[in-house]
Amino acid sequence: MQCLLCGSEKILPEKGRWEKERTFFLCHDCDTLIFPSYFYRSKETPYSLDRLWSRESKTGLKKLTWYLEGKFFHFPRYKRDAHLVIKKIRAGGSLLDVGCGSGERLAIFRECGFNGEGTEISLPLVTYVREKLGLNVHYGSLENLNLPMEKYDAVLLFSVFEHLSTPEETLRIVHTLLKPGGWVIMYIPVTDSLQYPWFRERWTHMEKNSGHFFIPSQAGVESILQRNGFRIREWQRCCLRATAGSFAISLLSKSSYREVWSENWQGLIWRICGIFFLLFPGMLFALFEHLYGTSPEMLCFAQKK
Ligand SMILES: [Zn+2]
Repeated sequence: MQCLLCGSEKILPEKGRWEKERTFFLCHDCDTLIFPSYFYRSKETPYSLDRLWSRESKTGLKKLTWYLEGKFFHFPRYKRDAHLVIKKIRAGGSLLDVGCGSGERLAIFRECGFNGEGTEISLPLVTYVREKLGLNVHYGSLENLNLPMEKYDAVLLFSVFEHLSTPEETLRIVHTLLKPGGWVIMYIPVTDSLQYPWFRERWTHMEKNSGHFFIPSQAGVESILQRNGFRIREWQRCCLRATAGSFAISLLSKSSYREVWSENWQGLIWRICGIFFLLFPGMLFALFEHLYGTSPEMLCFAQKK
């Protein structure tokens, strides 16, 4: 058994702190966490968002929750991330958002002057993004799309890397798609955060429904990027509201994932309570975590050598 990021063989099993039946594996060289699903993975059944994407079935309260979260949480984050990317790549540059989901982030990058395209493996999402947002989205996985080589100034892997069953193969493809000196920019949860040792298996990124195969450490990400022809340029902490959000939904574990809270009322009520009651303590915790120098999610900027 090898660490999929640093290649070390010092992989030891760990038990959950509260859920004793949970087992995961920790690389003792780079601190990457690997879930059993990674070892039993099947390339034919990638993580799919199809089930989450059913806007038509949402009642008024669910729609309102989606709307408020988008307006006050997700969209400000996307704007802040777009501005970080603008500092690296000139406006008008070509950008590929891998796993662009419902396209809102890609739309913001387009508003900021990028020539953006997306890829997505969920057909309902592709249809929505093409028809409602008018964006150029390729349907399929990066491995099957045969996109032109050296076309892009930047490839974004935002909340995607930890879902990959073959991260090394994906990075090799990303490398061929980038122009010389092009950027790969990843938004990833990391075990270096204070939230991993505090929450352990109750941390939102470790939930069973997360679809994550692993959670990397910064050292692990650096190792796999360097091995695949990239030079690390910068790490940036995620914004305070993302740290606060991660803290809040880890405390209210039933409300973490849309496939839980958008399909049962208990989850939805937890979600709404979480937004109201935990935002303030969440922001205080986030401030503490940022002052301490970590955050649960990080942005990694690396450049093709
Ligand atoms: Zn490792």
